[in-house]
Amino acid sequence: MSRDSCDLLIVGAGINGAGIARDAALRGFDVVVCDRGDIAGATSSASTKLIHGGLRYLEQGAFGLVRESLQERETLGRIAAHLVRPQRFIVPHTGERPAWMLAAGLTLYDLLAGTTCLPRSQRLPPGFPLLGRLQPAVGAAHAYYDLWVDDARLTLCTLIDAQALGARVRPRSALIGVAPDGDRWRCTVRDAAGEATVMARCVVNVAGPWMSAVEALRGVVAPPVRLVQGTHIVVPRLHDGEDAWLLQQPDRRVVFVIPFGDDAHLVGTTETELPSPDLLGATDTERRYLIHCLTRAFGQTPSERDIRWEFSGMRPLVGGGGSARTASREYRMTMDGERGGRGWMSIQGGKLTTHRRLAEQALDRLTVFFGSDARCGTADRLLPGAEDADAAQRPDLARRLSERHADLPAGWVNALVGRHGSMTSTLLEQAASGGAGRDFGGGLYEAEVRWCARHEWAHSADDLLWRRTKCGVGMSPAQREAFARWWADQRPG
Ligand SMILES: Cc1cc2nc3c(=O)[nH]c(=O)nc-3n(C[C@H](O)[C@H](O)[C@H](O)COP(=O)(O)OP(=O)(O)OC[C@H]3O[C@@H](n4cnc5c(N)ncnc54)[C@H](O)[C@@H]3O)c2cc1C
Repeated sequence: MSRDSCDLLIVGAGINGAGIARDAALRGFDVVVCDRGDIAGATSSASTKLIHGGLRYLEQGAFGLVRESLQERETLGRIAAHLVRPQRFIVPHTGERPAWMLAAGLTLYDLLAGTTCLPRSQRLPPGFPLLGRLQPAVGAAHAYYDLWVDDARLTLCTLIDAQALGARVRPRSALIGVAPDGDRWRCTVRDAAGEATVMARCVVNVAGPWMSAVEALRGVVAPPVRLVQGTHIVVPRLHDGEDAWLLQQPDRRVVFVIPFGDDAHLVGTTETELPSPDLLGATDTERRYLIHCLTRAFGQTPSERDIRWEFSGMRPLVGGGGSARTASREYRMTMDGERGGRGWMSIQGGKLTTHRRLAEQALDRLTVFFGSDARCGTADRLLPGAEDADAAQRPDLARRLSERHADLPAGWVNALVGRHGSMTSTLLEQAASGGAGRDFGGGLYEAEVRWCARHEWAHSADDLLWRRTKCGVGMSPAQREAFARWWADQRPG
C-alpha cells in the first residue's frame, strides 16, 4: 500500500475543496485533495451558475451574506474573467410582490454592491418589448445585473491553479477510513489502483451533502443538516435575446430562465427536501413544476420530450426550521484539535459565489493551528486563463486566434476561448499539426478532448460532455453514444 503525507488532506473536490486547496497551497501548505468522483462531479456542477448577491435573500434579512456575496462578485469577475459574463435579469411586476418592494429591494442590492463594474438596476421603460411576451402581458418590470459562470470550469480552474502551486489533486479517490495516529490522521483513500494511506496533520471535510458520512468515518455524529434538492432543465430557446428572467411564483419561490448557449434556456430551480443525498435525481413533480412555470409565463409549453438536459444538485442547508426557500445559505465551520497535534475541520453549506471567502476563513483558522502567519493572497491572483480574456477582451482574443488558425472550424475557436480563456492559444498550438481532429458533434472536437484528458483530469466521456464542456447538450443521443465508444476505445490522455 502506497503512503503519502501532507499538512492538509481536503476531502471533496467541489468548489469549496478547490478554493481551500488553492488558498492553502498559495500560503505554502503541503496539500492533497481527494474526491471519490470527478472534480465538480456533484453540487458544484449542478448550480444555477450565478455569481450573485442573491436578491431573494434580502427578503430574509440576510444582508451580511448578500453584501459579502456582492463583494465576491467583483473579485471573481476579475480573477475568473474568462468564465463569467454579465447577465441582465428582468423581474416582471406580476403581482406576487408589490412593485415598491421590488424597487426598494433592488436599490438596497445596488447599495450593498458598492462600487461595481456592473450596471445598476433600473425600471424598464413602458412598452419594453419582451414584456408583451408574458401571459398575460405585463406592463412594467425592473432589471438588474449579476454574473453568469461556468460552475464546473470555475472549480476545475481553481484546482488547476492549486496544482500549479504544488497541491496534489486526486479525483476518483474516496476517503474510506480514518484513524488517529500520534499527531496525524491515518487516512485510507481508495482509487482504481487500490488503497493508499495518506498521513495528514489536518483533514478538511468539505464533502458537501456527504459531509455527515465522512464525519461518521471518525465516529462523529454531525449536527443536523437539511438536504434540499434543486433541479434544472435545459429546453430549446423560448424567445430571442440575451436577457434572463426572474419569474416570481405564487408559492413565493422564484424560477430563473437564463439563456444557455445559442439555442437553449436553462430553467430552474425547484426545492425538494430529501432524507438522503443518495436519492439525488430529478423527479416528475419537479419537471412538471418547471414546465408549468414556463407555460404560465410564456404561454408556450415545451413538453418533457423537449428537455435536452436535466441535472439536480443538493444544498446541505445549515439551520433547522422554516421552509427550504427561507433556510440560510450561510456556512458553518467547526474545527477540532490543538496546536501541535492533529486537527479536523468540517464545513457545511455555502455558495459558489462565496467559496473564496469561505476558503480564506478556513485558512485563517488553519494558519493559527499550524502556527503560521501566512496571509490570504487569492483575491489578487488570476485563475489560469483569465489573462486578456474578460468579457470585453474576449472577442478580440477569439478574433486574433481565429486569424492565426484560419483553417479551424468557424465558431470553435470562439467556444474554446469561452471555456479556456487565454489558455486557448496553448491548446491550439499543441493541436496545430492535427488541427481540430475528429468532430463529435455539438461543438466537441478531438483536440479539446485530448487537452482535457491530458491537463484537466478528464477520465470518462461524461467528464467531457457535461463538465469540461457542456457540448453534450447540443449532441444527439447517437452522437453521445458514439463519443463514449470512441473514448472507451482510445482512452486519450
Ligand atoms: C440547485 C442549486 C443551485 C445553486 N445555485 C447557486 C448559484 O447560482 N450561485 C451560487 O453561488 N451557489 C449556488 N448553489 C450553491 C453551490 O452550488 C454550493 O454551495 C457549492 O457547489 C457546494 O460546493 P461543495 O464543494 O461544498 O460541495 P460539492 O460540490 O457537492 O462537493 C463535495 C464533493 O465531496 C465528494 N465526496 C463525498 N464523499 C467523499 C469521500 N468519502 N471521499 C472523497 N470525496 C467525497 C463528492 O464526490 C463531491 O464532489 C446552488 C446549489 C444548488 C443545489
